[in-house]
Amino acid sequence: MSKKRIKVLELTFETSISEEKITKEVTRIASEMNQDLANKNPIFLGILNGAFMFASDLFKQISIPCQITFLKLASYEGTQSSGTVKQLIGINQELKDRTVVVLEDIVDTGITLDTIVRQLSGYEPKEILVATMLHKPDALQKEVKLDYVGFEIPNEFVLGYGLDYNGYARNLPEIYTLVKD
Ligand code: 5GP
Repeated sequence: MSKKRIKVLELTFETSISEEKITKEVTRIASEMNQDLANKNPIFLGILNGAFMFASDLFKQISIPCQITFLKLASYEGTQSSGTVKQLIGINQELKDRTVVVLEDIVDTGITLDTIVRQLSGYEPKEILVATMLHKPDALQKEVKLDYVGFEIPNEFVLGYGLDYNGYARNLPEIYTLVKD
């Protein structure tokens, strides 16, 4: 693959995963899910904003009965604690006794996913499965269970395919890595 260089705001990035490779992995994950989750009536939970493109591409290839909804992690300053609390918002379906499949763009330290899984557990689902397009194993700080992983990547900043830099570049169909000078 010839590497394409782009500028996003003041930073330079180059392609690290092509659209073709992404499509191949999304297709693989979808076919695994179609086998694993048949008869489980899963509900997919796409985590906004980053996972919208992965969720959309994947969902088109899911051929078993299922539902999808999108959730967001909202930060707010707690009135009692001094730290920032991240709360999962947008859950309006009954999750009790359901097979839920969290769709993430990237698992870096694992802190976000850990927060999501803890909060979802409170809804007493039957099981929580996790699919992430990207995973940085070297950055992991929390023990998280990943059931479906598109690509394991080095501990470097990436964007494209839903992932942003200051809100930009989510629209790019391939994944780009920051070029260090
Ligand atoms: P974690 O909590 O696992 O450290 O990070 C998860 C979130 O951080 C992701 O959902 C994503 O929003 C952001 N993130 C982590 N690594 C990257 C990266 O390389 N590029 C971009 N654009 N966002 C990242």
